[in-house]
Amino acid sequence: MIDYHLHTKRCHHAAGEMVEYVEEARRKGLVEIGFADHFPLDLLGYEPKNPVTMEGEELEEYLAEIDSLNSRGEALPIRRGIEVDYLPGREGETRRLLQAYPFDYALGSIHFLGDWDFTHPAQVKGFAEGCVPSIYDEYFALVRRLAASRLFDIIGHIDVVKKFGYDSHEEHMEAIIRETVIAVKESGICLEVNTAGWRVPAAEQYPSRAFLQACFREDIPLTLGSDAHCPSQVGEGIFKAVELLKDVGYRRVARFHRRRRYYQNL
Ligand SMILES: [Zn+2]
Ligand SMILES: [Zn+2]
Repeated sequence: MIDYHLHTKRCHHAAGEMVEYVEEARRKGLVEIGFADHFPLDLLGYEPKNPVTMEGEELEEYLAEIDSLNSRGEALPIRRGIEVDYLPGREGETRRLLQAYPFDYALGSIHFLGDWDFTHPAQVKGFAEGCVPSIYDEYFALVRRLAASRLFDIIGHIDVVKKFGYDSHEEHMEAIIRETVIAVKESGICLEVNTAGWRVPAAEQYPSRAFLQACFREDIPLTLGSDAHCPSQVGEGIFKAVELLKDVGYRRVARFHRRRRYYQNL
C-alpha cells in the first residue's frame, strides 16, 4: 500500500531522518511512499505565529534528499510530494512556485483561518472562544475555493477542522458534505484519506465515513496518508483505512508521478 503524507524535521515539528522513514515504510510493507512536508510559507509571503514549515532556502535540499534516497535503489519508489497551504489571494504565486519545482504531487491543505492556525495545539482555545458552526462554514467555504483554484492534485485532510473534537451538528455536516463534494467533483481533484485523525481528539480518520460515502457516489479518487511526523508513524493506520475504503465500496486508490494520476487496486 502507499503512504503519501510524510513530514520531515525541516518543518520544526517533526523528527527523524528521511532514511528512517523509508526504512520504516519497507518494514511495514508499503509499496510506495511520498514525502509531503510543509511548503515554505516565507515564499508565499506569510508568517505564522508558530513556525510550521521549512524555509524557502531548504526546498532544494529537501528535493535533493528525496532524489538521493531514490538513487540508492530503494525497493520502493519515493515520491516528491509537498503539502501546501492554500492562501486565498496568493493563487498566482502558488501556481508559479509549484510549476518551478519537479513535484510528483501537491497536497493543498488549510491550517489557517486568517492568522489563526486552528490545527496547532497551542492555538486550540480559538474553538472555545468562537462559534463552532461558523468556524465550520468559514473553513469549508475555503476548502471549496481551494478545490476551485485547481492549484493542487489532492486535498489534504479535508475535514481537519474536527481535529480537537469540536463538532458541528449532524444536519449542518450533511449540508457541508453535500456542497463540498459537488465542488470537489467539479474541480476533478483527488482527496486524501488521512489516518492522523485517529491520533487526535477527533478519534476518526479524515474524512469521516459519511464524507467518504458521498465521495464514492461521485466517483471521487482518493489517496492515503498517515501524516507521519516521526518514523514510527509511517504507515500507521493505512491498512485499517484500506479496509474502511473497501467497506465503503472503493476498489482502487490514486498514485501520482510528475503530477499525473494513475491507479492501484486495493
Ligand atoms: Zn505538520
Ligand atoms: Zn496538514
